[in-house]
Amino acid sequence: MAFARRPGAKSGILRRMSITIRIPTPLRPYVGGSKEIASDAGTVAEVLTSLSATYPDLKKHLFNEEGKLRSFVNVYLGDEDVRYLQGADTLVPDGATLSIVPSVAGGINQNPVTHLSEPDGALSHAEIRRYSRHLILPEIAMSGQKKLKQASVLLVGAGGLGAPAAMYLAAAGVGHLGIVDFDVVDESNLQRQIIHGQSTVGKPKLQSATQRIKDINPFVEVTGYEEPLTSANALRIFADYDVIVDGTDNFPTRYLVNDACVLLGKPNVYGSIFRFEGQASVFYAKEGPCYRCLYPEPPPPGLVPSCAEGGVLGVLPGVIGVIQATEAIKLITGIGEPLIGRLLLYDALEMRFRELKLRKDPACPICGEHPTVRELIDYDAFCGVPARNGAAHEESHGVPEITVKELKQRIEAGLEKTNTILIDVREPYEWQIAHLDAARLIPKGEIHNHLHELSQADEILVHCRSGARSAEVVKFLINDVGFRKVKNVKGGILAWAREIDPRVPTY
Ligand code: ZN
Repeated sequence: MAFARRPGAKSGILRRMSITIRIPTPLRPYVGGSKEIASDAGTVAEVLTSLSATYPDLKKHLFNEEGKLRSFVNVYLGDEDVRYLQGADTLVPDGATLSIVPSVAGGINQNPVTHLSEPDGALSHAEIRRYSRHLILPEIAMSGQKKLKQASVLLVGAGGLGAPAAMYLAAAGVGHLGIVDFDVVDESNLQRQIIHGQSTVGKPKLQSATQRIKDINPFVEVTGYEEPLTSANALRIFADYDVIVDGTDNFPTRYLVNDACVLLGKPNVYGSIFRFEGQASVFYAKEGPCYRCLYPEPPPPGLVPSCAEGGVLGVLPGVIGVIQATEAIKLITGIGEPLIGRLLLYDALEMRFRELKLRKDPACPICGEHPTVRELIDYDAFCGVPARNGAAHEESHGVPEITVKELKQRIEAGLEKTNTILIDVREPYEWQIAHLDAARLIPKGEIHNHLHELSQADEILVHCRSGARSAEVVKFLINDVGFRKVKNVKGGILAWAREIDPRVPTY
């Protein structure tokens, strides 16, 4: 055994030196500052014993009093921890690189499950058992599993998309999951948000999701952010994560997620769902287009209904959320072809996938050649959404309104006596779920065919589920038809169920 830096080494010996030992920064002072030291091939024990004989000061950092390798020092042959090879007896062959990797203080958030796992991304026996089906996949194997363990993924939203994505990422062994969500589990979520259950209805989604993730995989560290994602906190929150998974349901947050990812140079794994169709892509401005390259401008508010208004097939977010998890795992492990520059479209009714090519827009305002967006902006204003106010449960929509309490009084007094008519502008299938007996059903899309049945002399009250669609009908009747006495029922039948009659089912 001989070392290149050993005093008095002869040139003839150098030619037999065939392996490289990598010395980590904290140990370099004990080997004269060297990054790498050449040595003869041999077993790990022989190589390290010989190394510490040459550099006595190094010895106490590598071995304890019993002469055993210290527990916070890991030795890798190539990218394999020698503990999972033959330990000290592992042969270090010609041309190989042996790396000494001690644990170092500081760095990322403290991992509450460190007692279960080994430092430096090495896997404990329990982890090896857990991930065995990954470890025998040559494309993942030990090196990929370690990358997953050391990776961090932020899920924006623990709803339809975030639920399956979080569960599979946790099961796959992603070491650190962050979740941004300040919503509470509602029974109507359970049709698709499978991370939550009957036992967590009424609890914060963050708490519910964390509980489920810990049950799936206790080795995963979970950090929760029980706050809305805003321009003020997005960069700070995103900074700690390698990959961002966008599971949001509104345009202001989509643009916020996109812009924060572009500014920080992070990949944004995108998914969206509506009724029976879904989309997925990876927006990574370093290597391809961003969301703004695809959609420079948001649609005007109200044009694209949300899932709460338009409905969504329960399994659909499962398909799209799992595609997002797949892409995140591919990005972390570096395997396969990422969905960068491609938009995947899924139609559940036809059971068909299509793929569109996306191009980077040189004129993109944030990732183009001459970006005009250099910091986060006011995304509510950008998307034309009235500023969100935590206290206000429903927006006024800028039309004359009547509350459900007033409506109740009017119904009790008799609508016909005061020449008042109540119109329900929802769809027939919604009417089947719940309706007010005093109302008459005219779906929003058919209102123009029924104008001749309405009188200017009557007062017209319009309601829907939450008050958004009916507000549009009120605007249409006032601005386009010229009616004067039209009012929107604030909060719709949901407000009625909440404030007047709890027997009315909500959906
Ligand atoms: Zn762009």
